[in-house]
Amino acid sequence: MEALTWHGEKDIRVDEVPKPEIVNPTDAVIEITATAICGSDLHLYNGYMPGMREGDVIGHEPMGEVIEVGDEVETLEVGDRVVVPFTVSCGSCWFCEEELYSLCDNSNPNAEVARAAMGQSPAGLLGYSHMLGGYAGGQAEYLRVPYADVGPIKVNSDLEDEQVLFLSDVFPTGYMAAENADIEEGDTVAVWGCGPVGQFSIQSAWMLGAERVIAIDRIPERLEMAADHGDAETINFEHEDVYDRLMEMTGGRGPDRCIDAVGTEAHGTGLKGVTDKVKQEMHLQDDRPVVLRQAIKCCRKGGTLSVPGVYIRNSDNVPFGPLMNKALTVKTGQTHVQRYLGPLLERIEEGEIDPSFIVTHETSLTDGPEMYETFNNKEDDCIKVVLTP
Ligand code: NAD
Ligand code: ZN
Repeated sequence: MEALTWHGEKDIRVDEVPKPEIVNPTDAVIEITATAICGSDLHLYNGYMPGMREGDVIGHEPMGEVIEVGDEVETLEVGDRVVVPFTVSCGSCWFCEEELYSLCDNSNPNAEVARAAMGQSPAGLLGYSHMLGGYAGGQAEYLRVPYADVGPIKVNSDLEDEQVLFLSDVFPTGYMAAENADIEEGDTVAVWGCGPVGQFSIQSAWMLGAERVIAIDRIPERLEMAADHGDAETINFEHEDVYDRLMEMTGGRGPDRCIDAVGTEAHGTGLKGVTDKVKQEMHLQDDRPVVLRQAIKCCRKGGTLSVPGVYIRNSDNVPFGPLMNKALTVKTGQTHVQRYLGPLLERIEEGEIDPSFIVTHETSLTDGPEMYETFNNKEDDCIKVVLTP
């Protein structure tokens, strides 16, 4: 079958690879009908993620039709139409029982590697390095789905693929980001990053009772989407100082809740305007992680910082002193996707939200390498790419 494979930094190829088969009795195999490229895939593309090997099949936002099930699979049948979460979760360990699916204790066959790096291992993720499971991903014609009774959600209705596909990741991720922000009625929520995760964070902030949402990015069409579709006020960080502007907009108090929907290796402008003397005094050698730094600085005292943005290695220069002295709460993590599938599908079915608004590019899987480049460089007004095998 054809699949998108990783061959090193900025080197994604279309390769012919073996079609996946049932390995464990709890597996299913699906034939993919639609599969998206995620901002998290860009961390692989840019070579930030350790544990990648040449030829790895990537992709973790797939949906399709079940074509084979293992002997122990009870909830799925051949012919079912399913969306598959990017988190691989056993469903029965202590963490899964607490609905902390992205922290599953059993789904990372390479747990010792992750443990060496992090002390403990989070869950395995589809198509996301050998450190996080070594599972083949879903930018392919077919996908093996481990723990098939735990992850995939059946979609019976006649909704289009693009309306339900983002249940696999970015819609639940935006929702959990807003939930993690502890939004209370009347709150002002600032969202850094207007990619798909930022857009769904904005939508979800409204669902959870925000009074104002302020979106920050530099790309005009993404800011436009945040304003037009997301009803957010916007700040273009290339033209305005984010701290000054946020203080001005909130009467000097700062946003109550801040969401970092950007993550690692952000487009750096964090120390713009900071004098060399201050840099030296505060040991600020470089401007990463720029969004974390900015959000900690801007957040109102006693507020909450929610971080769906992915960080991979140790991030130096996180201002823990200001964080502590301003009594901020920080919540983060890979999304516990399975927790949100049912309730968010219901919102889609009821017409409360149509997640397809983020799609800007729909093309064939074989255009994948080119689409990675376009999405990474934020060219051609690209916000979300959906590929069809
Ligand atoms: P994306 O690349 O499409 O969007 C990132 C956006 O951030 C871009 O629009 C970019 O212009 C903007 N940006 C860059 N620097 C900025 C800055 N200094 N200030 C404000 N905005 C800035 O990616 P995405 O798909 O929206 O994903 C966003 C992040 O969420 C990534 O780090 C991704 O890995 C992460 N993610 C996390 C989870 C999870 O489970 N926690 C799931 C999916 C994605
Ligand atoms: Zn993703």
